[in-house]
Amino acid sequence: MRATFWGTRGSLASPGLDTIRYGGNTCCVEVRTDADDLVVLDAGTGIRRLGQSIPDDAPRVDVLLSHLHMDHIQGLGFFDCLYRDGFPVHLWGPASTTMSLRTRLSRYLSPPLFPVRLRDLPCDLTLHDVGFEPFDIGGVTASCSLVCHPAPTVGYRLEADGVTLTYLSDHEPALGVRDFPPPPEWTSGFDLAHRADLLIHDTQYTEEEYETRVGWGHSTVEHAVAFAAAVGAKAYAPFHYDPTHDDARRDAMLAEAAAALAGRCQVIPAREGDTVVVTREGVLLPADLP
Ligand SMILES: [Zn+2]
Ligand SMILES: [Zn+2]
Repeated sequence: MRATFWGTRGSLASPGLDTIRYGGNTCCVEVRTDADDLVVLDAGTGIRRLGQSIPDDAPRVDVLLSHLHMDHIQGLGFFDCLYRDGFPVHLWGPASTTMSLRTRLSRYLSPPLFPVRLRDLPCDLTLHDVGFEPFDIGGVTASCSLVCHPAPTVGYRLEADGVTLTYLSDHEPALGVRDFPPPPEWTSGFDLAHRADLLIHDTQYTEEEYETRVGWGHSTVEHAVAFAAAVGAKAYAPFHYDPTHDDARRDAMLAEAAAALAGRCQVIPAREGDTVVVTREGVLLPADLP
């Protein structure tokens, strides 16, 4: 299984010379199986360039939305596949207690926020309100559950090629917990991430930043490291970088996580444009690949 990071930033796109290595586009990850089945995680601004890389004769594309905060859907209106006549596009994501995914997404994909209405798109569009039964996309078995973040938000667990990738882009499992992590059954996201071969997890804040942002739905390095250790993740990629963080800050946070998990869990950088390969023996980085 391969994963390509098209957008790694949280909250707001933040391009610039000082974010060039980790990237400025918001959340979007491409997952490909060995048989070339395609699953896209979130539709932040990174999805624009991903769309351009998908050939017209691809069989279909499935986009799994974690939630509908703007940094996770803002690229959707610029996703090339939506404008291809009859091209099969499946959008999966959480409904709210009162509105379907279609109604919720239509708020963004309609004037005055966007010139094109969801119903006017020429592709063959299917929307799925995600439930809590696993579902299959080609050779991928996907499961999801609600996680601790403001508004209905899910994390995803993808299983294919004998490995598991877990995506928890926006997640504050330590919220309201005095001694984190608590026992597994009380930890948000535990089942999704249990023994994942690659855990992509919210690591937005430093300890100092978190003090004034409790309840905003995001994690510090310390929280994410404790979570990765508690679930027994084999590899962990910090994700959802704060827009104010430059590359040097992210290098330091990555090093802090790697030191804390040394010998227990492989810590890898999620850098925009990088493709990594998830294997049972570990995650191969671009430098490891031919
Ligand atoms: Zn976000
Ligand atoms: Zn969010």
